[in-house]
Amino acid sequence: MKAEKLEELAKQISSCQYCPLYKSATQAVPGEGNSEAKIIFIGEGPGYWEDRKGIPFCGPSGELLDELLNLINLKRKDVFIGNVVKHRPPENRDPLPLEIEACKIWLDKQIETINPEIIVTLGRFSLNKFLPGEFISRVHGQPRCVNFAGKKRIIVPMYHPAAALRGETVMMAIREDFQKIPALLRQPESIEETGKSEESNEQLNLIS
Ligand code: URA
Repeated sequence: MKAEKLEELAKQISSCQYCPLYKSATQAVPGEGNSEAKIIFIGEGPGYWEDRKGIPFCGPSGELLDELLNLINLKRKDVFIGNVVKHRPPENRDPLPLEIEACKIWLDKQIETINPEIIVTLGRFSLNKFLPGEFISRVHGQPRCVNFAGKKRIIVPMYHPAAALRGETVMMAIREDFQKIPALLRQPESIEETGKSEESNEQLNLIS
């Protein structure tokens, strides 16, 4: 059931024209993995290799992600891997707020369908979706419980693998942060609800 729903979403994403990114991209990269996953990993958007192959994290960042998953005895088939935007921004530039907003519906539907307990955010754009206003350098590796899509979920902010490939300090941090995942998978209820929900943050934005 879930697998079919994800498949159907992937089809819809492939023909999405909600923002102009589809014009310069080769194809959409809907995301892939286990529809029953307890944990999902959310990056920023497809890069050069992802755009060519249609597979998330299949370039150098993906090689590192595979290695990090391996470190904690997980395989791609155990998890779901997706992105905040589904088409590659030209020249790998940052996705624009308008593009993130237009693409939001797809990631939200994927999360609703998979219904994971743990969401690992890779990089600041993904972090910003779940914990707006937080800085990755301050919160990486610190799990937060938030109410998202009708359920308490654990958000684990991590640096983006591409940032880890650029510097040894971030590489050490991401390795250390990944080692926290197995305990969270065993005992997700150990994390207290401390974060604000996306809904309540949206309300705060309206008030301020
Ligand atoms: N970087 C991302 O954020 N996502 C990918 O899929 C690949 C690289």
